[in-house]
Amino acid sequence: LQHDSEGARRAYELDRKHVFHSWSAQDLLDPMVIIAAEGSHVWDGEGNKYLDFSSQLVNTNIGHQHPAVVSAIAAQAAKLCTIAPGYVNDARSEAARLIAERTPGELDKIFFTNGGADANEHAVRMARLHTGRHKVLSAYRSYHGGTQLAVNLTGDPRRWASDNASTGTIHFFPPYLYRTAFHSTTKEEESQRALEHLEQLVGFEGPSTIAALILESIPGTAGIYLPPPGYLQGVRDLCTRYGIVLICDEVMSGFGRTGKWFAVEHFDVVPDLLTFAKGVNSGYVPLGGVAISPEIAATFGQRVYPGGLTYSGHPLATAAAVATIKAMEDEQTVQHAAFLGETVIGPALSGFADRHPSVGEVRGTGVFWAIELVKNRGTREPMAAYGTSSPEMNQLVAACKSRGLLPFANFNRIHVVPPCNTLVADARAGLSILDEVLDIADGFAA
Ligand code: PLP
Repeated sequence: LQHDSEGARRAYELDRKHVFHSWSAQDLLDPMVIIAAEGSHVWDGEGNKYLDFSSQLVNTNIGHQHPAVVSAIAAQAAKLCTIAPGYVNDARSEAARLIAERTPGELDKIFFTNGGADANEHAVRMARLHTGRHKVLSAYRSYHGGTQLAVNLTGDPRRWASDNASTGTIHFFPPYLYRTAFHSTTKEEESQRALEHLEQLVGFEGPSTIAALILESIPGTAGIYLPPPGYLQGVRDLCTRYGIVLICDEVMSGFGRTGKWFAVEHFDVVPDLLTFAKGVNSGYVPLGGVAISPEIAATFGQRVYPGGLTYSGHPLATAAAVATIKAMEDEQTVQHAAFLGETVIGPALSGFADRHPSVGEVRGTGVFWAIELVKNRGTREPMAAYGTSSPEMNQLVAACKSRGLLPFANFNRIHVVPPCNTLVADARAGLSILDEVLDIADGFAA
């Protein structure tokens, strides 16, 4: 790739002068320059090449610059860049069909948004109008987006600055055996006790006041917690019993990430609403949406749905989704993600757990894995306290980067979340860098 270090330096200077970054203290930042990327690799301002084990924000499911998607966006741009949502557009119609065909059950109507947070905002609005109720339940250890309601649904420290009781959000403990809130010793016990806790909470809050329960089918940024046997089915049953709308947030877990089109398929559960974004078009153009059940769609059959946005179903974004989904079918990308999980990443991570005392637990499926790092395996003291980073974690991230690997780190975890179409050889190369870096982590562990 052509390298322009002068251009990269100017981009950096202008960024520091004019760009206000997300979730950051502006003066403490030293952001990395990335001007070029291809497949599973990116290049920094000095022309150094990195293997991207983060898929950016776990969204480039087909890697960077997929030629079929790039040319579909160019073709759509040449034909029609934008059109208001009230008109029929071929790219939007086709994207809605392809998504509806892949979502589980009869979630066959698609409302398009610009990203994940607004998808969740709209899903909750639909649930509230459908049920006539206000409260929404969501899990601790979750992320649902940065807008006011979505960040209040979120169960991580990013919520704290925007806490607002009027959003009607109430949090429950999800199952998490490694740090169980329920004193469980087996997955089955954890599942059952987490369900009992949830049912109690519903009882105390009053089922007739609860519009929806939202959860990530497999929680992502919060730590990639695979729900234990029976949990998701139990939540589904509980919602059905009490007339609560079940919203599964598949913004991160959808579109191949877990080795299936949607993570709910692993558990045979069909939610009432399913939200998506990120992998729907690998983030090439911002796009998200809500897949809607026939019952909820019928609520808005004769009655106006009071919501919308200028770019709902934007032609460039939906043309990118059409090309992405077709490329994923042609190249069997979802099957490849499952294969990587079963035969490359999963076995390598089990080996890390056996060999490295700093590894407390590994968990995941497909190209969706977490390595939970501890200072002490006996006490399970995390390598960074909840909600923080630590000098040790910062050093491990720097060690990955100096070896040409871009990791995804959160608190005391390193996630292994490369693109779904990462080549086996690249996945192995990244894993062997992680193996080396875990030797350093072992030095921090007692
Ligand atoms: N939901 C989940 C599970 C996510 O991981 C994210 C983003 O990371 C969001 C919602 C928010 O999506 P967006 O950043 O597109 O608004």
